[in-house]
Amino acid sequence: MKIDLLVKNGYVIDPGNKMKGKFDIAIDKGKILGIYQPNTFSEYSTKNVLDVSDCIVVPGLIDLHVHVFPIKTVLGISADHVGVNQGVTTVVDAGSTGASCINSFIDEVVKKNITRVLLWINVASPGLCEGLSELADLKNIELEKLEEVIKEHSQVIRGIKVRMSSSVVKNNGIKPLEIAKKSAQKVKLPLMVHIGNPPPDLKDILSLLEAGDVVTHAFHGKKGGILDEDGKLILEAENALKRGVLFDVGHGTSSFSFKVMKRAIDLGIAPHTISTDIYLANITGPVYSLVTTMTKFIALGYSLEEVIKATTSMPAKVLRMEQEIGSIKEGNIADISILKWNQSPIKLVDSEGEEIVAEKFLLPLYTIKSGKVLKCNG
Ligand SMILES: [Zn+2]
Repeated sequence: MKIDLLVKNGYVIDPGNKMKGKFDIAIDKGKILGIYQPNTFSEYSTKNVLDVSDCIVVPGLIDLHVHVFPIKTVLGISADHVGVNQGVTTVVDAGSTGASCINSFIDEVVKKNITRVLLWINVASPGLCEGLSELADLKNIELEKLEEVIKEHSQVIRGIKVRMSSSVVKNNGIKPLEIAKKSAQKVKLPLMVHIGNPPPDLKDILSLLEAGDVVTHAFHGKKGGILDEDGKLILEAENALKRGVLFDVGHGTSSFSFKVMKRAIDLGIAPHTISTDIYLANITGPVYSLVTTMTKFIALGYSLEEVIKATTSMPAKVLRMEQEIGSIKEGNIADISILKWNQSPIKLVDSEGEEIVAEKFLLPLYTIKSGKVLKCNG
């Protein structure tokens, strides 16, 4: 009996499996069958061979913060466009839908894309389907309805999204987060909290978060962020990190600053997860793609391994799906991304308009989603 696919001659980097080096990967029936020393698995035993010489082979990339609900939200973009087409096997929509539109999201997005689409459900029923101030009216939080859909769609709903910035909550201050936290505890899911312009005060937000909760836009360049005026980490952020609260990038149009990130690096703070917050308006810049965002971190001094960890095994852990995705382990789903260095320098820009030059940049070549090979186009 022949197996489906052998991925040959690539340089494997899999932080979740502590694996680095040249290996061949055997894939059958959508799963990882085994990892072999080069040329030890017979090509005669496989139906297809994918030769990826000079390429980097990593677990299927996971983007923890995207917006992929184009039919109901103004900002949404196609999941496959920012997913498998760009070397990303799993995207997690961050609050585009709440309980009201969940069925349409499942039917039109989750089921109609090749990319695995998961979600942080918006604590407010309308999500982002009726504008961007979904928490200005507390009546939009309907806990019974929310907890019901979470139960019904527990495979794809991996957490609850709460957007805690002034334009979203208006006069409601910290209240929406207090309500969301109680509900998240009840359904045993983590929160993803968007931070931005205060009020509410970041100190009050961070104080409510527990281990496993995610702060997205953690390195934004607006006032009232994780650093004080002297560039020191605020005490509440330090304590949150000690408790196991996770910092996510969530680049977006206006939520990632090289200056803040560089200062954080000097303080020894690394993002736990690197995500894009990609949507229609920022795919043409400054975000472009997850792989471009990864290149920015390499230009900032991160190692390739660190960047891959923050886009594979770490997000898989946040999603509580390490037994399925985020690592090329025997028995895991065969989600793999094939990347290549382009050796020319490139200018990259953050959300503040600051530029850095990367000496080389990563490009996605192939996406293997559940064992199926797809060619990337960006
Ligand atoms: Zn977002």
